[in-house]
Amino acid sequence: MPKKRATIIDLIDTYYRGDAHIHSSHHNTINWQRWKKEFDEQAMVALYRQLNFEFMVLVSHSSNPEKPRVQPVDSAVCAFLTDMYKYIHAVMPADICNVLVGVEANIMYDPKGQLLIDVPDTIMAKLDIVLASRHTMNQPFASKDGIDFEKDPTEIKQSLLMAIANKHVRIIGHPDRYSRVKSSSGKYWKAYWSIWPDILRAMKQHNVAFELNISSPPSTRLMQLVLASTVKIFISSDAHYRHTFAALIALRKFGSEIVAGSTFAQTKKVLAASFDTWKIDRRLSEKTWQDSQAMLLQLVYWVQYLQKHDVPKARVVNSSYENMKQFIARAT
Ligand SMILES: [Zn+2]
Ligand SMILES: [Zn+2]
Repeated sequence: MPKKRATIIDLIDTYYRGDAHIHSSHHNTINWQRWKKEFDEQAMVALYRQLNFEFMVLVSHSSNPEKPRVQPVDSAVCAFLTDMYKYIHAVMPADICNVLVGVEANIMYDPKGQLLIDVPDTIMAKLDIVLASRHTMNQPFASKDGIDFEKDPTEIKQSLLMAIANKHVRIIGHPDRYSRVKSSSGKYWKAYWSIWPDILRAMKQHNVAFELNISSPPSTRLMQLVLASTVKIFISSDAHYRHTFAALIALRKFGSEIVAGSTFAQTKKVLAASFDTWKIDRRLSEKTWQDSQAMLLQLVYWVQYLQKHDVPKARVVNSSYENMKQFIARAT
């Protein structure tokens, strides 16, 4: 009898049994009552079961990613983070649902031109895990050579190395998002690609993981460098909204129709055919549907990519809760 072909669900269950980047509140709305209403215990357990997860990490933006600001220890954001940590660990019995609490901290410049992370070390130390990401950097200097400051290779490298060296930071979120200047010179590309080996070496040294963010996916060329290193990987949804979860849950319903090895076009066809089934919430807009479809296509693409490159499960931290616990315990 011919061997049954692996489906996308098999691959998702191999590599994606937990998510370390699920946003706990809409953007930066620090509204504790609203948060508790949207993410009560039942809602969390339901998500956990429907996504076949072994764990999930709820993160919050520490300050507005478009306008990051350093948060003092007594700020509302720091109180929110510590309250959320206490609340989740008090109401979520670990034998039912392993929910962890973290932060997506901003890597940024302060007005004096100092590179830093916007959350105090004492607050980061209290959480289960810290992701640090480059969003808006608060450009303090003039751009060089006509290159947008935030896309300047030297600046990208310095800012990421600063975050990697912080002992509380364990994951670099969407490491190359918006980092490349399109239609650039050969000189630019040479400089751009030369920064990554040092960054990956530092990640390895400090045991900091590389995020494969399916909402802001890395370039395949960078992913090749990651695979050639021994840096650990996290697959993250970066889910901000209920419809993102709805899309991921829906994929589990029809993902068994997508065999491993399917092309982008074949996958898209299955996704399109399932449009009606998928569109559970009639209030979802066309744009929402397009965004969610793009995210699902990325998830399908990347789990196939990892399998094609024989990436062992252990290399992907969120392939099991056991793996995750070991990763958290091995801080530098
Ligand atoms: Zn982000
Ligand atoms: Zn995020």
